[in-house]
Order: sequence, then C-alpha cells, then structure tokens
Amino acid sequence: MKLDAKAIRYLTSEDFRVLAACEAGSRNHEVVPTPLISNLSGLRGGSGVNRAISNLAKINLIAKVKNAKYDGYRLAYGGLDYLALNAHQKSKVIYSVGNQIGVGKESDIIVVAEATGGQRIMKIHRLGRISFRTVKTNRDYLRHRSSASWMYMSRLAAMKEFAFMKALRENGFSVPEPIAQNRHTIVMSLIDAFPLRQISKVADPAGLYSELMNIILDLARYGLIHGDFNEFNILIKEELDPEMKGKELTEEEEDEHIRLVPVLIDFPQMLSIDHVNAEMYFDRDVECIKRYFKRKFHFVSDSKGPTFAEARKMLLKNPGKRLDVEVEASGFSRKMARELEAYMEDVGVKGDGEASKDTDDEDEEESGSEAEEADGALDGKFSEDVDESTKRLEELEVSGPSERF
Ligand code: ADP
Ligand code: MG
Repeated sequence: MKLDAKAIRYLTSEDFRVLAACEAGSRNHEVVPTPLISNLSGLRGGSGVNRAISNLAKINLIAKVKNAKYDGYRLAYGGLDYLALNAHQKSKVIYSVGNQIGVGKESDIIVVAEATGGQRIMKIHRLGRISFRTVKTNRDYLRHRSSASWMYMSRLAAMKEFAFMKALRENGFSVPEPIAQNRHTIVMSLIDAFPLRQISKVADPAGLYSELMNIILDLARYGLIHGDFNEFNILIKEELDPEMKGKELTEEEEDEHIRLVPVLIDFPQMLSIDHVNAEMYFDRDVECIKRYFKRKFHFVSDSKGPTFAEARKMLLKNPGKRLDVEVEASGFSRKMARELEAYMEDVGVKGDGEASKDTDDEDEEESGSEAEEADGALDGKFSEDVDESTKRLEELEVSGPSERF
C-alpha cells in the first residue's frame, strides 16, 4: 500500500479527532459502531461527526463495514498512516513527504523532509499486508486474538526497531540515527548509500568481509544477533579519506582513497544471544555473508568462523553491557518481543535473508520446495524492493514536488 499524503492538508482537526476515535475503538472492536466513534471523538452534535466520517471514508482512511449485528467502520492502513504523519508533523519531525524509495514485504520506505529541508527516512511497518492474504489458516487463528491485529503488530515492529536502533547508536554502532517513532512508523536519518547488494565491485573484499564479521561479533559482545544480516540490510557508504577532501583526484586515485563504511539497518527481527535458537540465527547471519562474498566477489575467507561459541566468548569481554536486557527495560518488553516473534513465525514473515538465497550458487543444495520458496521471495524482492529502493538518492528529486501539510 503506497502512502498518498495528498489529502492530509485538507483534513480538519475534527476529521482527525474522528479518525483517532476510530483508532481507539478498533482496539477492542473489529468493526467500530458509529455511536462509539461519535462518543470517543468527544465532539458534540452528530452532524459534525457524520461529516467527518464521510470525508474520511471517501479518501479511504476508514472503511464502512456492514456487520450482521451492526454497521460501523474499520480503520484502514491509510488512516493509521495519517494519524502517524499528523503526530510527526505536530512534533516538527516531518514537514513534507517526498518519494517512496522502497516497498518491502513488510514495510514502505519514504523520503521525508523537516522544515529546514533536511531529508530523513520514514519507515512504515506493514505487518499483515502480505501475510494475512497468503496465510489463510493462520489468519483464522489470528482473528481470535484481538491483540494480534495488523495495527498492533506493525506498531510492535516499529517500537522494536526504534528501541534497538537507539541502543545500537548510543553504543557506537554504525546505524542510522533514530529520530522518532509513532504508531507503526519510525523516522531516522537518511543514509546516502547503496545496499551492498548493489555494489558490483569492491577493491578490498577481504577488508570489507572482516569488517562485517566484526560487526556480527560486536553485536554478540552486547548480547545481540541481528537475525537478518545480509546484503540488503547493509548499506555501504563511500567516504573519501579526510586528507584527500577538496583535492582534484583521478578516478584511480579516488578508488584508492575511498573507504567503504557499512551502515546496518532493519532491526525488527533482532534477538538476544540467549534466545533458544540463537545459534541457528547467528550461523545464518554469518553464512549469509560468506555465501554472498563467495558468489559476488569470489572471496572465500581462510578462517572458518566466527562460530557461535566465539560469539558467546565475546560477551565476557563486555561484562554488564547487555543491550538485549537494556532494550527490554526501555519499553519494548519481553512480552511484546514474544508476541511479535510468535506472530512473525505464525504468519511466515521472512527477513530479507530468505530472499537473498540464489539458486545459481553451486554450493547451495537446496531441496526443491525450499529452493522454490527462496525463488518466490527473490522475485518479490526484485520487482518491488530492490529496483525501487536502490535508486541513487540524489536522482530521486526529493527536493522536488513533495506533499506539504
Ligand atoms: P525492510 O524491512 O522492508 O527490508 P529496510 O529497513 O531493510 O526494510 O529498508 C528497505 C530498503 O530501504 C533498504 O534496503 C534501503 O535501500 C532503504 N533504506 C532503509 N532505511 C534507509 C535509510 N535510513 N537511509 C537510506 N536508505 C534506507
Ligand atoms: Mg531489509
């Protein structure tokens, strides 16, 4: 679902109150009865509420549902988007909305700007968009758990991602700067870089490889495993050596003095090194990089590791500093983590890693069904995510026509 912010500036504060009332009512109603919307909005007089309801329904922020027992409305994704955008605008985090640069399986990535024109990224989590449609049996099961709605789960994913980004950033990891979180959205700094997936040549693959493995071990040192560590979720910034800045350089000289700086993104699936399946996830992160470097850069490391045992040893190097524990205490509780994890498992939410498997890898001996699955995911990723999201940011006219509100 693409974000269309055009209509937002025509909405009145009454409209927003009614929209917020629909949101509040959806917490315990599949379909929010009209009288309840009216009640929750706190607006006097039915006509104002009815006008707002029909405004909102016309632009698909809420949808009318005829129920066997009563008629009412359901909040649509667009409605939740507008509530979040409105909150970001009020707190001066976002001034205008620019282009969408990515449509992932479970998120939309949008360039936004603050009042002074500085660009930022808004990530809208959309759990349930694909999964609900494709996993019918699970959908029935989820319907009986009111807390398992798309709205709640998307918010959990955003809260989790924000909490981890903040903790990582504060501890010196190379990640975007987390700026704000509201509902199912987070706003972060824009990284002007390509994902590793788009980098066709690296001057020193061994150097980059060991840097990435060190990031995996550094995470372990703080009690964490990324869980989706792969070429889609590592952005590669090109930085010129400071002493070379401002000098006229030939292309070769430039190549020689450019440093590749990895920036890690995408944290909804982060897990603790104490998780029951920690070893499997750790090995998978390591394998993803090994496989990718072999295939893309024909680089195979001499050393076999790092192993999970080595990772656990890293913990001892950092006694007392456990980000898995810190994040739990910061508001994203263990209960929330478990709910999100159960949901992702139940409906088959897969990370980008599953999409990165390539069948042309001689080393890969995937069983038929697994290979097909990986292929399907790859298709989705290419048609929707990679092509769009990896356009160079300066080509995107983000300073051009954007929706102000
Ligand atoms: P998903 O969970 O859908 O995989 P990601 O967080 O991995 O979402 O983002 C998808 C794509 O959007 C990334 O591969 C990257 O190209 C782009 N992207 C995400 N965050 C940023 C950012 N802060 N700066 C620049 N590009 C970003
Ligand atoms: Mg990703």
